[in-house]
Amino acid sequence: MNGFRNFMVGRYGTDQFTLFLLITGMVLTFIGDALNLEFLTILTYAIFIGCVYRTLSRNILARQKENFMFLKYWNPVKTWSKSKYNIVKDSKDYKYFKCPNCKQIMRAPRGRGKISVTCRKCGTKFIQKS
Ligand SMILES: [Zn+2]
Repeated sequence: MNGFRNFMVGRYGTDQFTLFLLITGMVLTFIGDALNLEFLTILTYAIFIGCVYRTLSRNILARQKENFMFLKYWNPVKTWSKSKYNIVKDSKDYKYFKCPNCKQIMRAPRGRGKISVTCRKCGTKFIQKS
């Protein structure tokens, strides 16, 4: 194990971008296999080589820049999908609705009948069925 540690000294290692490439590569491998698309297989080899290159790279600054660029686009996607997931998860206990004025998404416990709602963002008051 010490040999591996010495080998990795000064090298970049893995980050979110490498993990994303790895998972994308695996998904494309399955799709390529299932549909018998040779170009996808070649593309996944390129992706996997890219993963190894990034992990073993000694140019840490360049790799961090790549990861930063990736996260700039990835984080909004992650936040969006997480909020959609929470809506689906809580839909049994909570009713989700939008403010008619500013479209802010709000939620209220289900089964309370008609409730008076005040939007926290813009202050609009409206009646909502819960
Ligand atoms: Zn509002």
